[in-house]
Order: sequence, then C-alpha cells, then structure tokens
Amino acid sequence: MPLTIAFDNSYAALPDRFYTRQAPVPVASAELLLLNHGLAAELGLDADELQSPEGLAMLAGNSAPEEAAPLAQVYAGHQFGNWVPRLGDGRALLLGEVVSPTGQRMDIQLKGSGQTPYSRMGDGRAWLGPVLREYIVSEAMHALGVPTTRALAAVATGETVLREAPFPGAVLTRVAPSHIRVGTFQYFASQGDRDGLQTLTEHVMARHYPAAEDALDLLQQVVAAQARLVAQWMGFGFIHGVMNTDNAHVAGITIDYGPCAFMDRFDPGKVFSSIDRMGRYAYARQPEMAVWNMAQLATALLPLIDADQDVAIAKATEAVHSFPKIYNAAWQEVHGAKLGLATVQEGDDTLIHDLLLLMHEGQADFTNTFRSLAEGGPTRDQVTNRAAFDDWHARWQTRLKQEPGSDSAKQDRMQQANPALIPRNHRIEEAITQALSGNLEPSYRLIAALSAPFASDRQYDDLRAPPSESEEVRQTFCGT
Ligand code: AMP
Ligand code: MG
Repeated sequence: MPLTIAFDNSYAALPDRFYTRQAPVPVASAELLLLNHGLAAELGLDADELQSPEGLAMLAGNSAPEEAAPLAQVYAGHQFGNWVPRLGDGRALLLGEVVSPTGQRMDIQLKGSGQTPYSRMGDGRAWLGPVLREYIVSEAMHALGVPTTRALAAVATGETVLREAPFPGAVLTRVAPSHIRVGTFQYFASQGDRDGLQTLTEHVMARHYPAAEDALDLLQQVVAAQARLVAQWMGFGFIHGVMNTDNAHVAGITIDYGPCAFMDRFDPGKVFSSIDRMGRYAYARQPEMAVWNMAQLATALLPLIDADQDVAIAKATEAVHSFPKIYNAAWQEVHGAKLGLATVQEGDDTLIHDLLLLMHEGQADFTNTFRSLAEGGPTRDQVTNRAAFDDWHARWQTRLKQEPGSDSAKQDRMQQANPALIPRNHRIEEAITQALSGNLEPSYRLIAALSAPFASDRQYDDLRAPPSESEEVRQTFCGT
C-alpha cells in the first residue's frame, strides 16, 4: 500500500513559472541510515510508516505518495558577489508541504534526488559525507535554538557518486518552513516579472510574515530576522561559509550546510570554506555580508515598494540601514547572556569585546572558554595570556554582582547560553570517515550528544575537547 501523507501544497499552486514539475530519479537500492523520530512526531508523521518499504521508497525518491507534487524550484542569486541569472533546485526536489499538528506548514524536500532542469553541469546527486554533515549540523543548530532547516532522514542509495573520488550516494530529507530565498525574489525581479514578484511577495507574507502589510514591511521584517539570525551565529562561533543570496532564506533561518563550520580557537578572520579564497564569508564579515544580501533583496523589491523609483530607493535603503541597530542589539543580548548579563549597562559591550580580544590573542577555544565561565571552571587555562585574563575576570565579577538573582541562578542562565557541545569539525569528519566504512555508531552518538548541547553529560566529555593538531580540520568543502 502506498504511503499516505496529507500533503497540502501551496507552492505547487503558484504559477507554472515558479518551478518545474519533476519526479525524483529512482535510486538503485535504498537503505535507511538515519531517521529523526522527534521531528517526525513534530510533523505528525508516523516514524514506523516512514521506515516501512513505502516510507523508505519516498525518502529515497523511488516513489512519491499520490498527494505529493514533486517540483524543482527556480531561483537566481549572487554567488560570491557574482550574478547568476538562473540557479534553482539542481539536486533537490520539493515533495510537498505538510501542516503539523501545531499548524506549522513545512516543506518536505529531498536533496540528492537526481537531475532537474536546473542541474546545469551537476549530476543532481549527493554523497554520504555532505548528507551526514548537514544532518548532524542542522539538527545541532536546532538544539542550540538557532532557526534552521531540519533533517528528517538520510538514506543510502546504493549508487556511486563521483567527486574527487567515487563515494557512496545518499539522499537527505530536508524539512523547512519553506525554501524561499533572496535569490527567489531576485529571479522574478531580474526577469522583469512584476506579477511574479507580487505573487511571490504575497506568498511569503502569508507564509512567514502574516503581520507584514506590504513589500516594504516585508523587507523590514526580513532584515530584522536576518540580523537576529547572524547575531546568534556569532554567539556560537558559527561560520556559514557560503552566504550567497541563493542561500539567504527569507524567513531568517539557516540554510545550506555545505562548507560551514563551528570555530574551535577564536579567530575573527577565520575561514573554513575551500572555495572562499578571499575570505568574503569570514566569521567577522558575516553581518556585513548579510547586509549586502539584504540590499539585493531590497533591489529586487523596489518595483513593489513605490511607483516612483527614487521614493522606492529611499524607503528600501532606510529598511536595509536598520540592520546594524537590530544586529547590535541582538549581538549584545546574545553575548550579554553568555556572560550572565540579563540587563544592559554602559560598558557592557567593552567588557564583551575585551574578552573576545583576549580570547583571540590568547588562542582560546571559543566554546570551551565561555562554557568554563558558565561552569565556574578554571577559565584562565583556556588562554595563554593569563595575567590579562585575570584582570578581565575581576572586572566581569564586579559587573556580574550588579545583576539581580542568586549566583546559582546566574550560573544556570549562563549554562543555557553557552553550550558544552558543538558539532566540532574533527568529530564530523570522524563520523563521516567511520560511516564510509560502514560504522554509523559515531554518527548516532554525535547526534544524540548534540541534541542536548547545554547539558553536562559526563559520557560526552570527550566531545568537548578541541582537536589536537593532527585532528584539526582546516578546510571544509562544498563537496556537492
Ligand atoms: P549550493 O552551492 O549548494 O548552494 O548550490 C548552488 C547551485 O548549484 C544550486 O542551484 C544547486 O542546486 C546547484 N547544485 C549543487 N550541486 C549540484 C549537483 N550535484 N547537481 C546539480 N546541481 C547542483
Ligand atoms: Mg544552496
């Protein structure tokens, strides 16, 4: 019996030029590697059904349920600042949307499901490494409280995918409140398709910003959502690595886990991505790159903002320029919380920046330094410049005493802001290497540990350790 999923497809109801209808390309032999039971339940899907032969066939792209309306979405984008007039789902397909028991509309998307009209030179496939990476890191982001796409399942295809070498193929099932990007708006704007732009704007407002009144209001809200998102990334030492406009989600959620990484040692100039040779998307540049992306969205929306172009530009510019203020407030909130500060006082930003400076100079591990502060541990051991750190620590203690609440309440609060565990690169690599030789245990363990990143669970103490010199992963690859 074919799987019945109550798909409710709003994107497929948009005009034809928004997508190409396309069935997934079947794979040789599907084998379930990972299934996210918690997410299945949140979506109102039955995990047992998903594991059944029919469920597996859907997750592998071998057969789509009748209610599905598989399609490849079209979009455009700036990649590393260069305009590409047509991108689109080249190795992904939207199966359809489900409405969860709590009323959340969610896309169910297969990634690695075969070629589409937007594949350009690509094979439309994915291999095990990036699929595991995205599964592990996106679910870790969710557990950290950062808005993100989710991972429902990973399936092995029994096929070989040729990259630098032959690798086992895999399909990821990605779940997100939509897959609409800044690049989706750019696509219609660049086509001079005002109706399409209007339709897309209404769709996005209904779906993500029901309180937005018009295109300008929408822009303003996307700017705010992006500013808050990037502030959260910064607070966890996360480097997205490929903040192209086609990877900027209009709902302000993290999307595209290609070359991303969490920093070990704190370095504002840190870059992991092998293709980011100019450091465009270095850690400390992320806020300004988000502004750049918002300027592209603003440009795309101009025709809807005002009939008079000068007026439209003035209004859109003002919306984009609101980014720094929103970002700075969010940054302060995120980093203040990391130091146990729920109130904002003059000088707090200096206190935070001074710590970051000491951490940079002192080669401190980003996550462990903050966690150690939260646990009241010997934090000075994290840095090489210990005397300077002791001075800073005394200043911080003085400031912390001015916060209301007991010491233990403050410590609890700090532990909720400073994870013990992040998906460290060398651990992801280890999980992938083991998976390639058929051992998924390290992946299971990593996923379990990262589902509670703020807990202090002794059995995962080894996962807190930064990499040794030989373990350190210096580059990450799109690997797609
Ligand atoms: P990304 O760098 O992952 O954001 O992808 C940029 C564009 O390349 C998107 O349009 C993708 O759909 C497309 N793409 C990436 N990898 C592949 C692949 N293996 N086959 C087809 N298209 C791909
Ligand atoms: Mg992408």
